[in-house]
Amino acid sequence: MKQHRPKILVVDDDPAMRRLVSKWLECDGYPVEQAMDGVEALTAIETTCPDMLITDWNMPRMDGMELCERVRRLRLANYVYILFLTVRSDQNELVKGLDVGADEFLSKPINREELLARVRAGERIVSLERRLSQMARTDELTGLRTRRSFHDIFDKEWERSSRRHLPLSCVMIDIDFFKRINDNHGHQFGDQIIQLIGEHLESSCRASDTVARYGGEEFCVLLPETSEQEAALWAERTRAGLAALRIPLDDDYLHVTCSLGVAQRSDETPTPHDLIDRADQALVCAKQSGRDRAVQFNSMCEAGSSDLQDAAQTRDLLARVTAGEVMTPLIACLNEDQTVGCAAEFFLRSRINSIPVISRTGHLVGMLSEKDLLAAMLSIECWRMPVRDVMKPNVIWYSEDAPIRKIYEFLCRVTIRRVVIVRDAHPVGTISRGTLLRWFRNLVLHSGRVPDERHFGNDHSSISKGRPYLMDTAKELQRQAVALENAISNEANHSTCAVGPATRMQELIEDLFAHSREAHDMSDRAGMLQLWALEKGTQRP
Ligand code: GH3
Ligand code: MG
Ligand code: MG
Repeated sequence: MKQHRPKILVVDDDPAMRRLVSKWLECDGYPVEQAMDGVEALTAIETTCPDMLITDWNMPRMDGMELCERVRRLRLANYVYILFLTVRSDQNELVKGLDVGADEFLSKPINREELLARVRAGERIVSLERRLSQMARTDELTGLRTRRSFHDIFDKEWERSSRRHLPLSCVMIDIDFFKRINDNHGHQFGDQIIQLIGEHLESSCRASDTVARYGGEEFCVLLPETSEQEAALWAERTRAGLAALRIPLDDDYLHVTCSLGVAQRSDETPTPHDLIDRADQALVCAKQSGRDRAVQFNSMCEAGSSDLQDAAQTRDLLARVTAGEVMTPLIACLNEDQTVGCAAEFFLRSRINSIPVISRTGHLVGMLSEKDLLAAMLSIECWRMPVRDVMKPNVIWYSEDAPIRKIYEFLCRVTIRRVVIVRDAHPVGTISRGTLLRWFRNLVLHSGRVPDERHFGNDHSSISKGRPYLMDTAKELQRQAVALENAISNEANHSTCAVGPATRMQELIEDLFAHSREAHDMSDRAGMLQLWALEKGTQRP
């Protein structure tokens, strides 16, 4: 195979010297460019990025030292090997040159053989650097880009899309039940499947798209100039293509499916990381709602065609309410360093069946459910494993000030039961379907839109008490809360001492809602009339 010769830039203000050095190098087969000083050299480096720079030290405008310093500050695609040509032999000067980034020196007058030998030595360094960076950029198994090199491209596309106001979409792809494939057919067969899926993804993309192996059995595709809608079409086509692949196995074929999450860059994704995060959330949603599907981030969050969502009344109810107002505050979190045994103990005692997991700094890092624990419980050793190893790292979360409408629409669509609410990446609460149902019921009861038979029998005696009754109930609730707090802090047996006061508080809260609605109706004669009519099964004229 013909070896790639390094491209060399020769910089010298003395034209005779520049030409001589260039000629020696060209005769030896190196492609050469020339520049007459540092300023010209810098422009050439930024546009063509040579592999090697041979520069004079003393030059007008910008000397070799400054040029070297500037080159090292540039973010170039590859390392540039720098060789200084100099008449200087002062030790301090040479040390300074090395410190600003020179690799080698050659003293003037120059000997041809020595120059070529030093260039060959540089060539060895350059080719080693190329090999290493190629390895870091390319995934060995699939030949696709690695995550690191994907992010370099991502940053460039991100900048281009913002500068030119172009859409940019990202798709996360994860092989379904891959662990099972490894377990049943061996790791080598698993590797073949990863390769095959990588090839299929690459062949499904345009030249301007970028495919990367993002993690073990996870891929990420960047689709420039593509809206989420278009990316979703691509994702669906790709999903179907992947599911249709017939992978020969023994005398039969195996089918593998993938789940895909699609997201588009928007004002709400200020960084590439945010866009990846959205695609990841959509992927989690695809997994949790059955796998072998592509889910769009926006379809999880924005209003769709459902009648309920379009109902003006629902819009009304959900207007201006934020997640923080509805959430159930978090009383406990697990730390990712805690053991599985400790987590199991917590679930058994608390009757809670899933809980957010935080890092040492209190940041949300995952979610742990009883199901995750059960799945990990096959060996005694697992009891000592950290929660980090068994939790689900992908959590659907919303910030405290997210409109409740988004979460409502999300929970209406997906099988996920609960989302985590965060403040500055720290979990502060959860919203489940149950939370929303309870909130709706209380809102509806409170607003008097739907009469509740329990609270509107024939006995209206409490209505006459109106506001004072409300206040009494609230005060009693407060008293009970203090009593509960005292009981818990004084008693050793926390669980039993909490039952009584907690039940009484539950009743009081129910009362508070019921009576607050009645009081509200008292001040609203029209509302009363309407309720009366509804109760009698008649319509008001
Ligand atoms: P899910 O549908 O939820 O994605 O299930 P899964 O089993 O695919 O999910 P999980 O992420 O738990 O398991 C992925 C497995 O992929 C675990 C790991 O052993 C395997 N894996 C990761 N990298 C490689 C690899 O390079 N080669 C092979 N053969 N297996 C790998
Ligand atoms: Mg998987
Ligand atoms: Mg995975």
